[in-house]
Amino acid sequence: MNRTITVIYGNDIRNMTRRLLEAECNLLPSDHSSSIIIKPNLVTLSDPENGAVTHTEIVEETVSFLQDRNYRNITIAEGSWIGGSTEACFRHLGYYGLASKYGIKLLDTKKDEYTRVSPCGIGMEVSRTVLEADFIINIPVLKGHCQTQMTHAMKNLKGVLSDKSKRDFHRLGLDKPIAALNTVIKPDLNISDSICGDLDFEEGGNPVRTDRMMIGSDAVLLDAYSATLMGFSPDDIGYIREAGKLGMLESTEWKIKELSKPAVAKSQPTGIARKLSEYTDPSDACSACYASLIHALKRLDDENLVRKLEGKRIAIGQGWRGKSPEIGCGACCSKASVTVPGCPAKADDILQVLRSIL
Ligand code: SF4
Repeated sequence: MNRTITVIYGNDIRNMTRRLLEAECNLLPSDHSSSIIIKPNLVTLSDPENGAVTHTEIVEETVSFLQDRNYRNITIAEGSWIGGSTEACFRHLGYYGLASKYGIKLLDTKKDEYTRVSPCGIGMEVSRTVLEADFIINIPVLKGHCQTQMTHAMKNLKGVLSDKSKRDFHRLGLDKPIAALNTVIKPDLNISDSICGDLDFEEGGNPVRTDRMMIGSDAVLLDAYSATLMGFSPDDIGYIREAGKLGMLESTEWKIKELSKPAVAKSQPTGIARKLSEYTDPSDACSACYASLIHALKRLDDENLVRKLEGKRIAIGQGWRGKSPEIGCGACCSKASVTVPGCPAKADDILQVLRSIL
């Protein structure tokens, strides 16, 4: 089993996508006539900058990469949430132009034929085209979710269900059915759009700039690692826990391979993130590090603990190198009285340290 998760930081999304794909191109099918599904997240009509939907550049670069290697049977498949129009998302985000430029197919899974399957005894209608595909490339957005706390690779597959099954999933509490769905639809590659995922809502509006992308072949392992990037333990996320019970997460020992280091962020936090930023003291902070701190503060806020930091500001960023603040995050703040290691620091590590001093 491939336990490597490859991570890249930056803001040249096309170049980052290509480098990630090059790192895992040995996993592409040997038969160039294989049917390949690309599954982005187009949950609702929105712009990627709002933190809800996949950046179209990632999808386009993936198509271009595949065609450079002579794969021709490519379909982009997605079904927006209940009441949403996938076609409106396709139109708004330029997918019709992309399909005609590269001569590929678009599939609104709401209009596909469905195959009824019952993994773990949970009945569900799954897009037949996706179910029968030879190779699936999942391109989720790493972001918060009001019910499941986090949504990413595993939950992104909900877009291949009929609207009826989507409703059933909600009635059943999401966690068990999402884990069950992942036993029948297993992406071969997962390219994570962790550029600016929303802090706590699936529909976006409160993006946190991270400037990070990842690739991994195991959706459950990738989600387990991603949970830690948002300040959770894998066990905190119900559908990862359920997947563990089904034997889909043998261990949480991942191997992280970094293709680049984070860069200093230029954007300003918005919404809830701006409120949480009052507890921070950034100086040339990299976006990935700063996002980890915001995610950790959000977890404390959820537990009503963040107010205990009143009067304190957590140092972060390259401008703190060699200085000795009271609390600091990341290798740049290694001389702080209380410090969190890592470059970038991870949200779960930050959370652990902050909890220890409250
Ligand atoms: S530790 Fe410093 S250099 Fe490393 S990601 Fe954080 S701010 Fe950037």
